[in-house]
Amino acid sequence: MIDTSAFQGKTAKYYTLGCKLNFSETSTFGRLLQDMGVRTAEKEERADICLINTCSVTEVADHKCRQAIHRMVRENPGSFVVVTGCYAQLKPDYVARIDGVDLVLGSNEKADLVQYLSNAWATRDGTARNAAGGNGALHEFHSVRTKDITSFQPSCSRGNRTRYFLKVQDGCNYFCTYCTIPYARGFSRNPTIASLVEQARRAAAEGGKEIVLTGVNIGDFGETTHERFIDLVRALDGVEGISRFRISSLEPDLLTDELIDYCAGSRAFMPHFHIPLQSGSDEVLRLMHRRYDTALFAHKIRLIKEKMPDAFIGVDVMVGCRGERPELFEECYEFLDSLPVTQLHVFPYSERPGTSALSIPYVVADKDKKARSNRLLKLSDEKTHAFYAAHIGQEAEVLFEKAARGKAMHGFTRNYIRVELSAREAREEFDNQLLRVRLGEFNHAGTALKAILL
Ligand code: SF4
Repeated sequence: MIDTSAFQGKTAKYYTLGCKLNFSETSTFGRLLQDMGVRTAEKEERADICLINTCSVTEVADHKCRQAIHRMVRENPGSFVVVTGCYAQLKPDYVARIDGVDLVLGSNEKADLVQYLSNAWATRDGTARNAAGGNGALHEFHSVRTKDITSFQPSCSRGNRTRYFLKVQDGCNYFCTYCTIPYARGFSRNPTIASLVEQARRAAAEGGKEIVLTGVNIGDFGETTHERFIDLVRALDGVEGISRFRISSLEPDLLTDELIDYCAGSRAFMPHFHIPLQSGSDEVLRLMHRRYDTALFAHKIRLIKEKMPDAFIGVDVMVGCRGERPELFEECYEFLDSLPVTQLHVFPYSERPGTSALSIPYVVADKDKKARSNRLLKLSDEKTHAFYAAHIGQEAEVLFEKAARGKAMHGFTRNYIRVELSAREAREEFDNQLLRVRLGEFNHAGTALKAILL
């Protein structure tokens, strides 16, 4: 039993960078600290504890992490500063040397946050350390070897009152040539289906209506428990009270035909898919060590559309990676243009130290990366606009989210169209309610369709 009495009445601030998984984990840290008697500090208030959950997906992400740490230290003098997440795992020595940082937790250690925090807190002289300019950070980081990162921190957090994020998997075994995530988060691992169903039931009991399944490589579910992802989906589909499940992302080779088929007839899994393609050129996919080709990807998209014609399909694309010669980018563009996908999430390639992509000789200039990004973003806008426009005049079920009094309310349809209900028609009691609407024209900003209540 850990003695947490020293934390009673203390305050904390949290800052998260990166993916939905990080946000869900930060929210779990917040709940753990709350159970220790720590309340979240107000915006302008100095916090006793600052926790920064970092990301290291690109060079820009690393830079933002450093900025966030410096800002937290500056704005909360004397605070006990804890840094965890992917950047902390990959650059622990660097992070530990930042002035004002007290504790660096690697991917294995963050599951035991309370224990490490209590130990470090008991031996601290925070004011003196921060005032002296840091450099006394405890370094709870035991190894950078992927195989040694084995802990799993369960997490089912409430993004807002309507949407929960349920972490079903962590880590990755794929080692794509441009990616550092397996080094930062370890190999693929997962909790049992039974424990995840239990967490979903608790979310339903708290009034949650929608759950987003999160993870690093979700489709790889089962490495630890030898259960199948499709069986997790089936089990969750039976959780009463949860009206909607979404899967945050699925690798194309793990998005099985069986799963598509199941989702098409399921009670609560939404016609909404997010699939990382990364490149629409087979040559580039080979250089990336991705485990599929464009033919497989196109088959998955066609099957989804055949079974669920209204499905929203978001696609991740990386532009300007090493080896992407101009003609290969053109292949990628043509491929995406030819597919009935809804939205592109475009990421410019960023060089990551230690990745095997660095041995590919052809380098794309930054200005070309930018130009390629811009072309794909324009294509994405056109596709999203056409998808929305095709739904104008149709009836839809919308799950509305809380809005400030006197403001328009927003929500999403089953197939992820953002919908706006005017401030005049918005009601507090619509928060977290499923309502039937008719979809009207685009709103003023062009970011949602107007809702007409039925
Ligand atoms: S599938 Fe590839 S890109 Fe995704 S986390 Fe694993 S190694 Fe990284």
